[in-house]
Amino acid sequence: MISHSPRKRFGQNFLQDDQIIQRIINAISPTIKQHLVEIGPGKGALTEYLLKYNCQLDIIELDNDLFKMLVEELSSFEQLQIYNQDILQFDFNQLQPIPLRIIGNLPYNISTQLLFYLLDYVHLVQDMTFMLQKEVVERLIAVPSTSEYGRLSVVLQYHYQIYKLFDVEPEAFWPPPKVQSSIVQLIPYSIPPVKIINQQHFNKIVTAAFSKRRKTLRNNLKDILNIEIIQEVGIDPQIRGEALTLIEFAQLSNQFTLQNS
Ligand code: SAM
Repeated sequence: MISHSPRKRFGQNFLQDDQIIQRIINAISPTIKQHLVEIGPGKGALTEYLLKYNCQLDIIELDNDLFKMLVEELSSFEQLQIYNQDILQFDFNQLQPIPLRIIGNLPYNISTQLLFYLLDYVHLVQDMTFMLQKEVVERLIAVPSTSEYGRLSVVLQYHYQIYKLFDVEPEAFWPPPKVQSSIVQLIPYSIPPVKIINQQHFNKIVTAAFSKRRKTLRNNLKDILNIEIIQEVGIDPQIRGEALTLIEFAQLSNQFTLQNS
């Protein structure tokens, strides 16, 4: 076992519970021909299990010391490639073959930023299985008119089918995080659940609609579009963004696109 003191700035909470590790691996169920990518392998708690499946595996670790230790311990595995990089700058296009199965017990301090970053590579992905803060998973699967529902829910639910698998208690890690954790699986849609003509317009409208949660849609969108557009798609401008379904956001965005083309 690698000796290393956990670094808070890298969100290091290492898995130490073999039963939980096995449950995560079972949820992934890798097969020999698949190409897996692990974000933040740390001391290799998940990596060592994944290697038993003989699948192609790329692991990306930011911490230089952990990277060196991983190279020392695991470089004899031919099917394994180890990268010492910031995942928020990592170019997934360099990985072949596709599709990729991306997994990780993610550093919680960058998890939402990373989920948005990975949207640029959604076309390469078969599925993603992540350990995240429970609160973030609840936001991912949230329905309209709840306090958890926001930009993360709407944008990610447009791209992925999202399944919460199970919760993980803090004792499963060392050091134990101050928050509850959950395992979530995201599977990109081959056909999106709604039609969006212009992604940039959609992103802009969703971001603005949630910019001030307590304000009405009319107020939050006033710098972007006319109130008439909101009424034309049959939405009350006085409601808040959090009341809109994905379909309504798509309708609003498409109407905006049509009037600006
Ligand atoms: N997979 C290990 C486990 O389950 O025990 C470690 C998980 S720990 C929660 C997160 C890991 O991500 C750490 O090893 C940390 O150094 C690494 N990490 C943090 N920020 C990163 C980044 N921007 N890019 C790549 N790895 C990062």
